[in-house]
Amino acid sequence: MVDLQTQYQQIKPEIDNAIQQVIDNATFIKGPQVSDFTAHLAKWLSVKNVITTGNGTDALQIALMALGLKQGDEVITPDFTFIATAEVVALLGLTPVVVDVDERTMNMSAEAVSRAITPKTKAIVPVHLFGQCADMQAIMQLAEQHHLYVVEDACQAIGAEYTFADGRTEKAGCMGHIGCTSFFPSKNLGCYGDGGAIFTNDDELAARMRAIANHGMVVRYHHDMIGVNSRLDSIQAAVLNVKLQHLDDYIQSRRQAADCYDKAFAHNPNIKIPFRDPNSTHVFHQYTIQLNGIDRDILRQKLAEAGIPAMVYYPVPLHLQKAYQDPRYKEGDFPVSEHLAQCVLSLPMHTCLTEEQLQYITRTVNQLTTNR
Ligand SMILES: *Cc1c(COP(=O)(O)O)cnc(C)c1O
Repeated sequence: MVDLQTQYQQIKPEIDNAIQQVIDNATFIKGPQVSDFTAHLAKWLSVKNVITTGNGTDALQIALMALGLKQGDEVITPDFTFIATAEVVALLGLTPVVVDVDERTMNMSAEAVSRAITPKTKAIVPVHLFGQCADMQAIMQLAEQHHLYVVEDACQAIGAEYTFADGRTEKAGCMGHIGCTSFFPSKNLGCYGDGGAIFTNDDELAARMRAIANHGMVVRYHHDMIGVNSRLDSIQAAVLNVKLQHLDDYIQSRRQAADCYDKAFAHNPNIKIPFRDPNSTHVFHQYTIQLNGIDRDILRQKLAEAGIPAMVYYPVPLHLQKAYQDPRYKEGDFPVSEHLAQCVLSLPMHTCLTEEQLQYITRTVNQLTTNR
């Protein structure tokens, strides 16, 4: 699905040198690499504050902790997503309220959000799934109207750009009150271990989140609030500093691969290619097709036999997960999400896909999904 070895070989001297510097100086925690990376990323995103964390899930948790919500407050999240989004809501004693997604974009449906808002609703957590922004125009409008916080889960979408109706263009994670991302190795900007970050233009929220990520401490050994210990270590920041310089090229490579897939599947009646939202660019964390009348398990099996990996993100919608059973929800409540869980398939997507690999994959997929 990803080829991180080839990517490393292309930047090996830069990476090796950056890591070696951390080791030589033994500045493993809070080294200058971390503040350098924080500044570079803030500039790249055009956002005022970047706070690094231990991973993307921590970023989401710290963001929600900073909002001062209380037990039972409702937080709206999409039903079709990675579990972390709802997990942190539940962990904090808040109530996750799940909503269905849009069949074309596979992102949270703003119309469903609007129907889910109650007097207890305090925040919306849109996920920019697979690398394309959710319907932020409508979501921000609803948030303003109902005085809700918006915490964007941009773990899969760093670099995606969304254009609002007034022509303003913003990067994923910089539109809501807070944005979160992950530097998990396979993410679009991945480090060589775990890492994450929080973005915000709100200085007050930034100060609170910086403190929460550091044991709730502003002045050393004086703890103003209950916090956590979550930080990006210097070696990971050193890797990210190198890779951030290549991120525009990496996004370009992913888009080229996606264009190639799109073209090859355009006339395949049994494959629905990813919808391109005219308001958002797509950074293709995943290239996810929807199968029409094809047995997905058999297809995956045959692809595997041909040496082609393919993954199902995500096979079980949130409301059908064992840990998230809730009397409010039953099977059939979120038909789009349930349908997508049955028919999506993600194909190999990374920055080093060659023309031959793409040709081989597309030819094989087309052969296995049509009668030709
Ligand atoms: C990867 C991911 C996360 C969690 O990131 P970690 O760094 O693995 O904790 C959260 N949400 C989404 C949508 C993700 O893809």
